Amino acid sequence: NRRKVIAGNWKMFKTVSEAEDYAIKFLEEVKDVTDLDVVLCAPFTALHALKNELEESIVHLGAQNMAWAEEGAYTGEISARMLLDVACTYVILGHSERREMFGETDQDIAKKVQQALAVGLTPIFCCGENLKLREEGKAAEWVKNQVASALSGISKDDLLRIIVAYEPIWAIGTGKTASSQDAQEMCANIRATLTELMGSASENVPILYGGSVKAENIGELMQEPDVDGALVGGASLDPLSFAKLIKNAS
Ligand code: 13P
Repeated sequence: NRRKVIAGNWKMFKTVSEAEDYAIKFLEEVKDVTDLDVVLCAPFTALHALKNELEESIVHLGAQNMAWAEEGAYTGEISARMLLDVACTYVILGHSERREMFGETDQDIAKKVQQALAVGLTPIFCCGENLKLREEGKAAEWVKNQVASALSGISKDDLLRIIVAYEPIWAIGTGKTASSQDAQEMCANIRATLTELMGSASENVPILYGGSVKAENIGELMQEPDVDGALVGGASLDPLSFAKLIKNAS
């Protein structure tokens, strides 16, 4: 009876007009979806336009990053309150691309998660190992540490408002999906770590898989007991294919 969630991460794609055009086509396709939560995580510049297009629809709006500070002299940053202002209710935090290319640390991400929760945004907290760690058999331990270091300072009640996304780095944008068994095993490990932090309430936290998810493989992934949805990159960029993926997930 956990919530199922399919979230699209557009990454650094789509201008305002491209986003508006997408929203019109996408809404037409998914307007009758009721059995899972649909989220579009768009670039900051497209959020305001999407707010107008998606208002009162079943599609929720998310951002892909956020500042850890509340406000102030932080040139180039976007605050949690600014995201609320454009009707965002979700925010991706700690994506591996932020960690690897922009130097975000576990500590930064922990602060961002707390800041998001403080204003009422739902964090989609990302974790996942690289290929070297996987080959060395250290994936489970690595991800456990990522989860514990970002979430250990958070109250049990607040943890209930989090979504976790397991995204193995070797599966992102590579066409190489984790097998549904591997995804299940890691998502179950993450749930066990959450149980250490919050007790049996971890049963209510949605855990998503991300990494080369497509309309063709979502059905199998969703069969797994601890995989509650997906965070989708490339396959979320076309409105019709993403809508098809969502229908195959429900
Ligand atoms: P792809 O679906 O393109 O592999 O990207 C996954 C991802 O990073 C979503 O956040």
